[in-house]
Amino acid sequence: MSEHSALDVLQRVFGYESFRGEQAAIIDHVVSGGDALVLMPTGGGKSLCYQIPALVRPGVGVVLSPLIALMQDQVDALTELGVRAAFLNSTQDWQRGREVEQAFLKGEIDLLYVAPERLLTDRCLDLLSRGRIALFAIDEAHCVSQWGHDFRPEYLGLSILHERWPDIPRIALTATATEFTRREIAQRLALDDAEHFVSSFDRPNIRYQIVEKQDARKQLLRLIQQDHAGDAGIVYCLSRNKVEETAEFLCAHGITALAYHAGLSATLRSQNQARFLREDSVVMVATIAFGMGIDKPDVRFVAHVDMPKSIEGYYQETGRAGRDGLAASAWLAYGLQDVVQQRRMIDESSGDEVFRRRLGQQLDAMLSLCEAIGCRRQRLLQYFGQTIEFCGNCDNCLMPPDAWDGTVAAQKLLSAVFRLMNERGQRYGAGHLIDILRGKQTPRVLEQDHASLSVFGIGQDLSEQNWRSVLRQLLAQGFLMVDHEGYGTLALTDSARKVLKGEQTLLLRREVARPAKGSAPRPKPLHPDLPNRAIALYESLRQWRAAVARDHGVPAYVIFH
Ligand code: ADP
Ligand code: MG
Ligand code: ZN
Repeated sequence: MSEHSALDVLQRVFGYESFRGEQAAIIDHVVSGGDALVLMPTGGGKSLCYQIPALVRPGVGVVLSPLIALMQDQVDALTELGVRAAFLNSTQDWQRGREVEQAFLKGEIDLLYVAPERLLTDRCLDLLSRGRIALFAIDEAHCVSQWGHDFRPEYLGLSILHERWPDIPRIALTATATEFTRREIAQRLALDDAEHFVSSFDRPNIRYQIVEKQDARKQLLRLIQQDHAGDAGIVYCLSRNKVEETAEFLCAHGITALAYHAGLSATLRSQNQARFLREDSVVMVATIAFGMGIDKPDVRFVAHVDMPKSIEGYYQETGRAGRDGLAASAWLAYGLQDVVQQRRMIDESSGDEVFRRRLGQQLDAMLSLCEAIGCRRQRLLQYFGQTIEFCGNCDNCLMPPDAWDGTVAAQKLLSAVFRLMNERGQRYGAGHLIDILRGKQTPRVLEQDHASLSVFGIGQDLSEQNWRSVLRQLLAQGFLMVDHEGYGTLALTDSARKVLKGEQTLLLRREVARPAKGSAPRPKPLHPDLPNRAIALYESLRQWRAAVARDHGVPAYVIFH
């Protein structure tokens, strides 16, 4: 019976033909009283997973959501569909709060949105215990994770739901969780018996591109002008200053760019957000404060001019592109400075050793995505525990970068760091090290008499840009580390020894010489009808043939049937 009426509600109330993905299974499970932990990518349709059971089951569905600013919108949208919905939060006056409470007690509403801090008050707990509750939905459940980027301490109090109402089904939903976070959510919310519903995390319509950062703003401008003229997009920056500068820069070049960060007044923020949602081709330049809960289907690109702190954050942010299923890009410019800056932020962060180690692991995973030679999507999904071969729709699939044996280059660089420390007791940052390797007689080289070091000038075979790339990869792979004093000087790690002794060889990524263009050039089609996957397959076969020829000295042939 429940399934029939759930489908009925979907069609008659929400006006949709059929359920998507796991929606039907989830709804069925919750309607029949089970607890659920739902992982579904952004835009996957999580809301219906609790809205429909709330309508089908007797009583009121209580929805915990951290997004106070969006509660009004959500309630308006439901009201428009004829669903009786209301919210309780700090933005409404006392009188209105009382009305909602009365409506709840009389069972005159189907869905009640509450902010967690509000729920945890005695008044609210008392109210809830006097009414009839259909279910509890905990939206954006990853906010309970202390390791995460959206941690909300109030979420930790939500285990009280299980203690007070053990028989009422609870459904926790999130778009971002590794296996680790998922276990953490289940544990902290006391969802021991919850069934886990994990949807595919692949968003095949998003093209992932990660480019070497040179002048990020100019690269961004080219990306917008060449690939996304007139498109709506989001540009993420690390700092408020950079948000302002970048927005101004884009505006000066004729792009409608707005700024969004926590330092702007609430009025300006909601004005900018409203314009972004309403107009067709606004570029929102923002810190990560922007985006959670935003449902704009036609965002055509998400650009990062600074590297995010973790793959979870990156996935969450890029997931805001192309929710309508049409082609969209996720573009990230990444450089040496990002590595240095992020390491420094971790070192300076408050929090104990375990916390910092975990942040370090998250950063390492992000770095290895940036330096990946193979398919980006494969790496990304692997992080969430899913396996694919390769996607044919990322920069590395479309234009496979060359890998080269960087062992000797790495040895040169690492021994320069070693000699400076050992012979002079000095540590330097990237710029000066590269000057020494390239044998440049800079004022600092002369002043410090570094031309007399045995490593001076041993790296003239590589350009400065090549050296930066080597350095970045050595940092990313953990052979070098950035100092703890915050000056960005470099030191060897324990694993550097193996490379210096020649016990370990290193395969490095060679930056593809890209034409003066911000994004990866569109692949030259071998044949206009050949799909991307086939091009990628062709490329990987070409590489395999080259590798066989190199390693075994014999030609390899591929025979197609
Ligand atoms: P999420 O919370 O997972 O990010 P939402 O619940 O906001 O996603 O849903 C994203 C969009 O998909 C909304 O516009 C919603 O109306 C739409 N949607 C959800 N389920 C269906 C469905 N079964 N059929 C068609 N559209 C759907
Ligand atoms: Mg949602
Ligand atoms: Zn790929």
